[in-house]
Amino acid sequence: MDDAVRNYKYRRATRLRSRYDSDDGGKWVTTKKKHRVHLNEEGMPDKGNPHVIDFIEDKALDNELKRIVGLGHEKVLVYDQNGKLAFSKDGEKHGVKLSSEETKMLKNLTMIHNHPEQVGFSLEDISLFVNKGLKKLEVVLPDGEVQSISKLQGEEQNQDGFFKAWFGVDVNTDEFEDYYCAVLRNAGIDPDAYEWTEKESKEGDRIFERCVREFQARWAEQNADHYGYRFTRRKIK
Ligand SMILES: [Zn+2]
Repeated sequence: MDDAVRNYKYRRATRLRSRYDSDDGGKWVTTKKKHRVHLNEEGMPDKGNPHVIDFIEDKALDNELKRIVGLGHEKVLVYDQNGKLAFSKDGEKHGVKLSSEETKMLKNLTMIHNHPEQVGFSLEDISLFVNKGLKKLEVVLPDGEVQSISKLQGEEQNQDGFFKAWFGVDVNTDEFEDYYCAVLRNAGIDPDAYEWTEKESKEGDRIFERCVREFQARWAEQNADHYGYRFTRRKIK
């Protein structure tokens, strides 16, 4: 490359960078893996490679998720676009009731919560996520699994289509049957028993729900992007 061209490109890059730097209180940093990322005033990444940004955001959220994993009741934490805590709320064993003021402010915010039992996203979770236009919703399960659903940046969201498809995931399949029976056996319940005790049948219902949610999650991992969303899982330690 010609020196003049190189110099020009260097000056241009410096100029652009200083302009970015001057319009807010943030700064450009180089990560350990040598990626350039811009951090806003709150220290949250807002410019740079989207995958790198996702990774940094996940790491920041993991620290918050660690505070609520394994609680005996549900707890919700909501963060604004700068990664600052907007509000938090404690709920019951099965759910947190949000006021209408609270639900109104959820658009494009990030919400995390825990489930006291080993079950993934509920229909209420997905409904809240699509209808209130959250940017990201995460749930941490007792074993440290984190399920994460978010809007795909730069894509249009098909809210109704996504909700209907999630709700309608087909569990009348051999694959589901096999999975459900295996989980039952694991819990000491014989799926082929002529009759279940009252205790077994209660447990069986819980396991069924858990398996359905697992299959909905598997479906979303493969298909959420068709609706403008992204579904991922990770594990916190
Ligand atoms: Zn939930």
